[in-house]
Amino acid sequence: MKRIFAIVLVMLLIMSGCHEEAGGSDGETERPASSGVGDLSDPTERPTSTDDGDTVTKTPAEYGSISGESYVPEKRVGYVCAGTHAVDHAVSPSGIYFIEKPSDDSDASFIIYADHGSDIFIKLCGRPDCMHSGSDCNAYVRQGSDICYYDGYLYVISGEGAYTEDCSLIRMDPDGSDHVTVLDLTAYAEENGGNSIVCDRITEGACLFSVYRWEKTGVDASGSYSLDSKTTGYHYYLLDGTMDGPVEAYTGGLACYSCGDVFLTYFPEPVNGGALGSYWDWDPVANEATFLTDHPGEPGWFGEEQAFYFMDGAIHRLTYGTQKDEIMVDTGLEGDYYAMFFPDCVVVASNEWGASDNNLYIYDWSFKLLDTVRVNVAQQIRTQDILIAETADRLILSDNTGSEPKYYIEKKDLGSGNLEVHEFDHL
Ligand SMILES: [Zn+2]
Repeated sequence: MKRIFAIVLVMLLIMSGCHEEAGGSDGETERPASSGVGDLSDPTERPTSTDDGDTVTKTPAEYGSISGESYVPEKRVGYVCAGTHAVDHAVSPSGIYFIEKPSDDSDASFIIYADHGSDIFIKLCGRPDCMHSGSDCNAYVRQGSDICYYDGYLYVISGEGAYTEDCSLIRMDPDGSDHVTVLDLTAYAEENGGNSIVCDRITEGACLFSVYRWEKTGVDASGSYSLDSKTTGYHYYLLDGTMDGPVEAYTGGLACYSCGDVFLTYFPEPVNGGALGSYWDWDPVANEATFLTDHPGEPGWFGEEQAFYFMDGAIHRLTYGTQKDEIMVDTGLEGDYYAMFFPDCVVVASNEWGASDNNLYIYDWSFKLLDTVRVNVAQQIRTQDILIAETADRLILSDNTGSEPKYYIEKKDLGSGNLEVHEFDHL
């Protein structure tokens, strides 16, 4: 259900079957050559672990290869802001957090944490008397999902899902201590006619979630009940405590994504006659939406005045005011690819299951190819699941066994000819 927004977009794209021709091309046409190659099946070197936990924060301008133009995303808000590729993680000034879900069928999940600069993930619990395996551990969250760091606290959803009896928004200190229930989401759902909660995002100071009502609609041939889901609304709550409680969000009824300055939301109706719907900037304080652009046909990064997206092998820039659509670079890649836009780089990857191309193509904001990383894992995985997070200093990768952080690339090594894929330890 978390993917409803994406599914709708995919359906629209399939139904439309049209790709508008872009404007003039000034990009390269040849397929990028592989410069540095990292092999995940055989990490060549494990770096020495660091214990200092120093915060390493750079602005985009401090990366020499960054153009510094105003269109570079300034906020590190996640992944593909208008797409589907997100793994639950949070980045704080001191480190990065993920939710680790055991492979058994239990409801248990644990928050794991690594300092910036460290290659070791630990469970987020500082109690020396704890075995970090039970529900009394500070790192434990029952059915945890949607973790976010905001204004000095860590927020996480506990107990998400259909028929949940205990779904809550929980706040804790960044070291995992002092769990506090901020919102009883199950009670809120029941007050609004629902019996199910799905949190779509906690981001940029807002918790965004859908309330559903599931009803038994009949008995199928096998004798079991089938279920029908009736949506009762898309709601939000601001983490700064300025709201008395959640309210329904004016966001087109579907999930919205933070692109930094913009809370991007989708409305089914185009405004200027486009083939698809339209993208709007939702203001969570006023609970109003402002039109940005008709849907350009692909997901991407959408700012206040312009968007970047990937279509037909090229990275496009769309300027809303003039509707000018430029090709910034033609990658020469043929097939189903997509791009992720970060403050200091752009990463292009294949969108296909069993992709024959398992490379990550990493560009700077001058759209020069910085490096190519070969992700050498089994073919049954989508490459998009490999790059699961990024920080100011690293690209963080998983493998084909799940969505845990397994490897990382130091951004400072991009383009150096000395790129290595390093491995994380999990204690
Ligand atoms: Zn513990």
